[in-house]
Amino acid sequence: MGQNPCHLQRVASLSASVEAHRTAPYLWPCLSQQYLSVVEQREPLADRPVIKRKRPMPELPEVETVKEGIRPAMSGKIIAKAEVNRPDLRWPFPENMADRLTGSRVTALRRRSKYILVDLDSGETLLIHLGMSGRMLVSGQKIGAFHHPHPAPAKHDHVVLHMDDDSRVTFNDARRFGAMDLMPTAAQEDHWLIRDIGPEPLGNSFDEDYLAAKLKGRNTPIKSALLDQRIVAGLGNIYVCEVLYRAGIHPARKAGKISSKRVASLVPLIRQVLTEAIAAGGSSLRDYRQSDGELGYFQHVFQVYDREGAACLTPDCDRKIRRIVQSGRSSFFCPQCQR
Ligand SMILES: [Zn+2]
Repeated sequence: MGQNPCHLQRVASLSASVEAHRTAPYLWPCLSQQYLSVVEQREPLADRPVIKRKRPMPELPEVETVKEGIRPAMSGKIIAKAEVNRPDLRWPFPENMADRLTGSRVTALRRRSKYILVDLDSGETLLIHLGMSGRMLVSGQKIGAFHHPHPAPAKHDHVVLHMDDDSRVTFNDARRFGAMDLMPTAAQEDHWLIRDIGPEPLGNSFDEDYLAAKLKGRNTPIKSALLDQRIVAGLGNIYVCEVLYRAGIHPARKAGKISSKRVASLVPLIRQVLTEAIAAGGSSLRDYRQSDGELGYFQHVFQVYDREGAACLTPDCDRKIRRIVQSGRSSFFCPQCQR
């Protein structure tokens, strides 16, 4: 079939895990290590993890995990020095970014959609977008009385924030699809990357009535509608595939043609899927800190995402997961369970 060995290995490990999934409680894959590294004393300095395998775009749960991962290193602390090693990432950095960051205290860390927002006591907010290949490296947090050296600078370390307690947060981005910007905190909802984004899926303004109104009369496939950031914030390909599988809705079904009962079921399922993934990210972060960082991306699988040809995990369904391409992106679904 022309599959490379890596793919075959993945298929084999997935098939092996299907039986376990039929009986065991479902476990989420741990994606978060791909976006966040926390370097601690027990790690040798040369051991900076290198991520080589293809990874998906970070979605809301991964960004939430990264935000929580950098919180201990940044919250309440002063940026003693900001190192900005190039003029741009995906877009040019704001003017004098290093000067504007230096000396500011971090008053809050928040997330809006897939953006991390770092509020500063200067009245500005630092917006961080991981893009496709962006990663955060946290180092130098004091544990006990020891002093922990930082890892050596690496290629693609574009922005390094040296905190006043010697913690360090490094933004590394090989492909430079990430972004950073500064804006007045009071006007953050007007920022061009944020102003058109719909409600947070875990927030109060996202409910059954809202979603029903947004989908009403819409001729686009439900998959595209849920990926539309103007309708709901932060959902990407992985989690929309998972949500539609749980909802039993075919990804190509026209959004406006879905019964109101099924539309209503989408809201709690979206919350459930995201909440589970955030919890998995949080626990992977704890595991990561206790292990050598080699956590099982391959140990757990999504229920449908990236499982083309594998058995459906619904009990008593003997069909295989199929893949179709919608608007240039793969949709994974079970042809029997999803109508
Ligand atoms: Zn099925």
